[in-house]
Amino acid sequence: MTAQQDVIVFYDERMLAHFPDTNAEFLPGRLDKRVRSILSGLYIPWKYPEHPGRITAIMELLAREPIPGVSIEPGMAATLDQLSRVHTRSFLDDIFSLRNQSAWLDVDTTAVSPGSVQAAEVAAGTAIAAVEAVVSGRAKSTFAVIRPPGHHAEPVRARGFCLFNNVAVAAAHAQDALGCKRVLIVDWDAHHGNGTQDIFWADPSVLFFDLHRAAPFYPGTGALADVGAGRGEGTTVNVPMPGGAGDTAYLKALREILVPAADYFEPDLVLVSAGFDAHWFDLALNVSYDGFASMTGIIQDIADKHCDGRLAMILEGGYNTESLSRGVHSVLKVLAGETPGEPKACGVEEVDAAIAFHQGAFDAGP
Ligand SMILES: [Zn+2]
Repeated sequence: MTAQQDVIVFYDERMLAHFPDTNAEFLPGRLDKRVRSILSGLYIPWKYPEHPGRITAIMELLAREPIPGVSIEPGMAATLDQLSRVHTRSFLDDIFSLRNQSAWLDVDTTAVSPGSVQAAEVAAGTAIAAVEAVVSGRAKSTFAVIRPPGHHAEPVRARGFCLFNNVAVAAAHAQDALGCKRVLIVDWDAHHGNGTQDIFWADPSVLFFDLHRAAPFYPGTGALADVGAGRGEGTTVNVPMPGGAGDTAYLKALREILVPAADYFEPDLVLVSAGFDAHWFDLALNVSYDGFASMTGIIQDIADKHCDGRLAMILEGGYNTESLSRGVHSVLKVLAGETPGEPKACGVEEVDAAIAFHQGAFDAGP
């Protein structure tokens, strides 16, 4: 146990009003008709998996099991200018025109309900608040508990449950308004952060490092050879993983690729696109709570070495509310000063206890 650190969790109830309902009346457009025909062909009723209960589960667990050093503050809405740093004005105008309506934005499951546009503005603004708190030194590290998530959103397109690219909006704000020069973004969500990669593809001032389950897993991008282009060639690093990869593979990738990359890049701010769908409860990969804790420790060491510990975590995916809330809790404990242990294979600890329990039972013979 090291010294307790100040950690701020940012959370805002306005994000609960994003609640796409697959049974609602949508707009009469071609896309809405297409989505409706796909949904009507499903044998099981389809529910929107990115729902408000995701973030309330995180906050409820934190209320039940508070962590010394962790405080909670409200978020804020991003402005049009802040969003315009990474999205085109025409895209933003189109999204804003859907205020108070229900519609599908993309066939790959991104929809809006009447409260969605404001929820997305608050998600992006709350990511900005998390960055401002670490850059100002008000907190050692921060965690933005936000939705809708962001890393699939491209400059001109909402997709994969994402409306605005929250982590990219936060990184651009750090550079344009807060004086940061080099931002490291680590994306450990199970899915590739195609939107974040797109936005900083040719930008040498942002190092984007992404661990993800390899194509054809959604969204199918993030090949090993995709390293950026132009002046940004080399500042995109993709590590595609096979399905079922877990703690050992994740930690090896961070220690042997991310750590030297960060030493080379020398970031003055570290952001994490923290998705928890790499946990085995979400059935794509095999990361444990101890694995998330250890990854946090490694990234915290990078931030300590290069930028006075300035580290902001931005929530992305994670659809099983138990592993999502417990995963965030494991990360927060490390941010607040707990030293993570090396993860063991699932069940080994319990088997060790069983060995001790049964020891001697069969010594005497029949
Ligand atoms: Zn994901």
